[in-house]
This record gives sequence, C-alpha cells and structure tokens, in this order.
Amino acid sequence: MGQIELIEVSKSYDKQHHVLNEINLSIEQGEFFVLVGPSGSGKSTLLRMIAGLEEISGGTLRINNRAVNHLPPKDRNLSMVFQNYALYPHLTVEQNILFGLNAKKVDKQEQKKRLNETADMMGLSELLKRKPKELSGGQRQRVALARAVVSEAPLCLMDEPLSNLDAKLRANMRMEIRRLQQRLGLTMVYVTHDQVEAMTMGDRIMVLNDGKIQQIGAPITLYNEPANLFVASFIGSPK
Ligand code: ADP
Ligand code: MG
Repeated sequence: MGQIELIEVSKSYDKQHHVLNEINLSIEQGEFFVLVGPSGSGKSTLLRMIAGLEEISGGTLRINNRAVNHLPPKDRNLSMVFQNYALYPHLTVEQNILFGLNAKKVDKQEQKKRLNETADMMGLSELLKRKPKELSGGQRQRVALARAVVSEAPLCLMDEPLSNLDAKLRANMRMEIRRLQQRLGLTMVYVTHDQVEAMTMGDRIMVLNDGKIQQIGAPITLYNEPANLFVASFIGSPK
C-alpha cells in the first residue's frame, strides 16, 4: 500500500475541459516523488488536490489507507511550500516559523524546542528576529522550508519552491531539500517544470503532459527507456 494513492482521479474546473484525466498513482512512504511537466500540464492542480485545497471531480484519493476526498487540509497532517514563499511580511522569522504551531495551540515550551532545533538545522538561528524584507531570497526560502519542517508532518508537498532563485542558489537548495527529506524520512511530493531538478532529486519521477501521465519511473529509467517521444524530448534522452 502506498502512503498516497490516487485511483482514477480526475479534475475539471468546468464541464468541457478536463485538467486531469483518470490519474492512477501510488507514492510510497519516505519516497521523494517528483511531478514534472510543462506549464499548464496540471501539476499544481494535482498537488493542491492532495493537499485538500482543490476538490476532486472524480475518483478516490487515499492517504495512509484512508479515503480523504472530503477531509480539510488541516486534518491531513501535511506541510506545504510554495513558489512565492508566502511569508508574512509583518512577522519576524521566528513568528513566521511558528505560525502554524501557534494556530494549532501547540504548547509554548514545545514550540521553543522545535524552533531551536529547526533553526539550528536550517542555519537560521542568527536571523530569528528579522523581518522577511531583511532577508535574501535564499534565506527567505529557508524560512519557508523551516516552517514546513517545524510542523513535523510526515508528508511534505512542494510546488516549484526554487523557481524564484538564481541558478547557484537553486543547486544548493536542491541538495539541502534532498538532505532534509532523507534526514527526516519525509514523504515528499515535489512539483517542478525543471528537468534537471527532477532528474537530480527524484527517487521516482512522473512526467505529466496535458493532464495525462506519460511515464512514471526512476530517473535512469526515464532517461534510458523513455515511454514515448514526449518523455524523450522533455527529459533530453538520446532516443
Ligand atoms: P501547472 O501547475 O502544471 O502549470 P495547473 O495545474 O496550474 O498546471 O493548470 C492546469 C490547467 O488548469 C491549466 O489549463 C490552467 O489554466 C487550468 N486551471 C488551473 N487552475 C484553475 C482554476 N482555478 N480555474 C480554472 N482553470 C484552472
Ligand atoms: Mg503550477
């Protein structure tokens, strides 16, 4: 049994246009699973359905063997990181990191403990009193990651979290995210339109085009045995 299972999941925002078509997918616990595909292929929609931010039009979504189609996001025990960081500009780094724990009324002492551990791990200990505007892009992104990590949710969803960063920082952050995921044993669903990111980070990759799965497999499999021309040209393999 996968930790996340999609069984014939479909999505349409209006009756004429299917954004996702009968998606069957099983993501294992502790796996780094990458969703890749061109802009408009349905990646964010799929991630938002797993998060519970978007209603499912058809099929079943299961998380930890439980059908969750109608479970609100806050009850799904997951964390999320988005492209635009979405930090609160008027709050300090510390307050940003602790926002979710506060909302859940986690004990203050426990908050302090988790904050210190997380800030330490993410290299943010010196920056806790700063406001987001006083941080570099990389530091802001690290705060967004810290906010996800501090929740201690076993499942983490990321939607193009690095696309606003320059190339060098992006390369560093790729490794940092991957290390973090392994260290914490997170199940990761990671959306990107960047082939390099997909190939270097994913245990498995799912290539999506126009709402349809083109192929699911390990990076090496996609490279050596692309299922079709779309995958071959998207991944850049020689076929
Ligand atoms: P991706 O993340 O791969 O770029 P999206 O999931 O954002 O793709 O979008 C897939 C398709 O669904 C696009 O055609 C997009 O225009 C459409 N779409 C996304 N969100 C909405 C929405 N809230 N209402 C209507 N159409 C949407
Ligand atoms: Mg998107």
